[in-house]
Amino acid sequence: MKARGKMAHSKGENELTPPAPLRIRGEFSRYPRGVGGVNDVSGSALCPSSLDVKRLRQDFPILRQKIYGKPLVYLDNAATTQKPLWVIDVLNQYYSDENANIHRGIHFLSERATQDYEAARGKVQRFIHAKEVCEIVFVRGTTEAINLVAQSFGRTFLKAGDEILISAMEHHSNIVPWQMLCEQMGAKLRVIPINKKGELLLEEYERLLNARTKLVSIVHVSNALGTVNPVQKMIQMAHAKGIPVLVDGAQAVAHLKVDVQVLDADFYVFSGHKIYGPTGIGVLYGKKERLEKMPPYQGGGDMISRVTFEKTLYLDYIRSVGLEAIAVHEKDLVTYGVKLLLSVPTLRLVGEPSDRAGIVSFVFDLVHAHDVGTVLDRAGVALRAGHHCTMPLMDFLGVPATVRASFALYNTRSEIDVMVEALGHVTEIFG
Ligand code: PLP
Repeated sequence: MKARGKMAHSKGENELTPPAPLRIRGEFSRYPRGVGGVNDVSGSALCPSSLDVKRLRQDFPILRQKIYGKPLVYLDNAATTQKPLWVIDVLNQYYSDENANIHRGIHFLSERATQDYEAARGKVQRFIHAKEVCEIVFVRGTTEAINLVAQSFGRTFLKAGDEILISAMEHHSNIVPWQMLCEQMGAKLRVIPINKKGELLLEEYERLLNARTKLVSIVHVSNALGTVNPVQKMIQMAHAKGIPVLVDGAQAVAHLKVDVQVLDADFYVFSGHKIYGPTGIGVLYGKKERLEKMPPYQGGGDMISRVTFEKTLYLDYIRSVGLEAIAVHEKDLVTYGVKLLLSVPTLRLVGEPSDRAGIVSFVFDLVHAHDVGTVLDRAGVALRAGHHCTMPLMDFLGVPATVRASFALYNTRSEIDVMVEALGHVTEIFG
């Protein structure tokens, strides 16, 4: 839905005047800058990228917080990103002034909500460069999108003995739905192996693609290791054998420019909450000719799962900042972070992909990841310690869990300094 200003009620309760557009650029100066405002990131803090990170941080009110008296350093962005005020304000405004059911009512609010909902679909179409707006299906998130394809496409086109191909670095959301489908249909799940650096073995992939393969479902960017997979090439390889491909873009869309037509993906899925948007919304892109052959996935009102509101201001936000500039900034952060992490005694990086997005995983050989996470938490650093819903990957790498730092547009080098400084105390405490 597009941004709206507050309704003017001065002419009487039921009389609406055209809403003033919500101002959405550079207006969030209500939060004081610098010390006492959004956590100060001056000095060596800022990165040599074209992003004005100091200003952008003003857009994220949560970053003003102190945790245990220390400035919050939020490095758990792969789990969920923080929300800019654009998004927070417009959600508030929607429920205050505009809430109505879409595609149902014939009253003003409902029709307007429907128009805005459909406009949001167009915005997503442009964001990932889908050919047609009808190729965008709103769902609750990546997990639901994959389940939808598994149950609708999978149950229609699979038979006993067929194969689905995934990789060894998939999130559980891109494993379990296929396991369930295989059980239901008597099909087989095959897995593309990886090397110790955390990269897919393409020659093995080529070997696994065969006449029984009915779908390839692969992650674009690994949530545990940050590996950027060569999905365009992998799609070409699958298509050469007539096999459709689903790409799990949950960790990609906020960091890389995604063009589904260039990729030629048959399905591309992602979640709103990892791209500065609200929780509970997500996108399934599917080529029109594929979606048209798929039966409804759920019975009920609109036949597909939908949320009651849709706001895509987060896409406007990302576009206004610039995805290329975000990618350059995050690349700088991860390069800087990796270099510093390598200097921490007894710390070992897990995964060293040659093409890495803004995610880095590491372990201390003698200290459990959860204990490391606790030390960092006390220093105000929020990041993830665990298996990251990638247990098969952890098994392969021979670790029960890792500590994972994942970066977003608002992170700074000085925050990485804070993390590394705290990590320096881990061996003192536990060693
Ligand atoms: N796929 C990947 C690569 C992820 O990183 C995640 C979440 O971390 C998911 C799928 C699941 O996303 P959601 O919980 O938003 O459905």
